[in-house]
Amino acid sequence: MADPTLKTEFIKTGTANVPNERGYYGDFGGRFVPETIIPALDELTVAYQEAMADPDFQQRLMNLHQTYTGRPTPVTYAKRLSEQLGGAQIYLKREDLAHTGAHKINNALGQALLAQRMGKKRIVAETGAGQHGVASATASSLLGLECHVYMGSVDMARQQPNVFRMKLLGTEVIPVESGTRTLKDAINEAMRDWVTNVRSSFYLLGSALGPHPYPMIVRDFQSVIGMEARQQMLNQTGRLPDVAIACVGGGSNAIGLFHGFRDDDVDLIGVEAGGHGIESGEHAARFADPRYGRPGVLQGTRSYVLQNADGQIMNTHSVSAGLDYASVGPEHAYLRDTERAFYTLATDQEALAALQTLAQTEGIIAALESSHAVAEAVKRAPSMSKDSVILVNLSGRGDKDLGTIMKELKID
Ligand SMILES: *Cc1c(COP(=O)(O)O)cnc(C)c1O
Repeated sequence: MADPTLKTEFIKTGTANVPNERGYYGDFGGRFVPETIIPALDELTVAYQEAMADPDFQQRLMNLHQTYTGRPTPVTYAKRLSEQLGGAQIYLKREDLAHTGAHKINNALGQALLAQRMGKKRIVAETGAGQHGVASATASSLLGLECHVYMGSVDMARQQPNVFRMKLLGTEVIPVESGTRTLKDAINEAMRDWVTNVRSSFYLLGSALGPHPYPMIVRDFQSVIGMEARQQMLNQTGRLPDVAIACVGGGSNAIGLFHGFRDDDVDLIGVEAGGHGIESGEHAARFADPRYGRPGVLQGTRSYVLQNADGQIMNTHSVSAGLDYASVGPEHAYLRDTERAFYTLATDQEALAALQTLAQTEGIIAALESSHAVAEAVKRAPSMSKDSVILVNLSGRGDKDLGTIMKELKID
């Protein structure tokens, strides 16, 4: 049963001190795009601000979250995991229980409602592993919008179940054959489509990335995670957690969690993909590897980017597709520089071990991405006192990863 004292709150926007009106988070963010895209970004910014100031829009989103997404998602006390680790008490924010199995639906529904309000009947999106494509396809079919998802042909071959899901939901999946035929090529194609068809089309961007206003819009739509979790922790434990932990790919689930605790005395920890380890160079730890992770511009925004000495974008590696990206949302770069949040990493092996530990103590098979956040809790909890509290954002469920997990763990 949902907690009756818990209301899914209206999303507050404009209360954070970032971004400024040019879309900057300190030195990060902005709009590094061709001139032709600027009017579309301006139109979107105005429409978004009007929507968020309109109680009817907020009410529609809230109703959909309650009756469709399954919000509020619960907070679960991980009693057996906490006992096994012997230190801090661990709580899990259960985004894995949201419709489609992850937090991405929070953003997809918000943006699809905005598209509808703007009179745009055609959704354009990009996808890498297919999770954002599925969330976009889901929101589009719910709201009666046409949906076109660009996906690298290499990714399509790797992620067949998600390609099939999108098709089943009535979405057109467009193979991208340019470049490395993966996510960044798909983003380029989706942008091109948007600019060509901007009058009828809405570009539904999947993480806290891209040119302003996207990082702000995605943050605001995902902040429902942190706002709910804050109230749930107060209701269930009578206090706030000492530490809040989330994995960081583009950074949307983390920024959504962090915003709930932004003004509190709570340590905010983001966990990047350490892949085969920093030394190997095969990872997606933009903040942890000073050899390659430096401020730069990728896909419309200035943030930390994994690049070689010539500014060439590095190839990244992670066992989890959702964390496998060379850049990170600009607000995370800002939170790190201002030391409001701290960033660390978990390797593939640590994430896989944490996934098994959680499965065997709590009966929850987490997504590989989320298992990076669990791994950090596993490292921290033993040295913390028994009356301290860690909150972990469980961004998604592991069903999509079963093939990879079985291969990596050599289970048959
Ligand atoms: C996509 C995804 C992520 C990574 O995206 P963020 O924008 O960093 O949140 C994390 N967890 C799950 C389950 C995902 O599907």
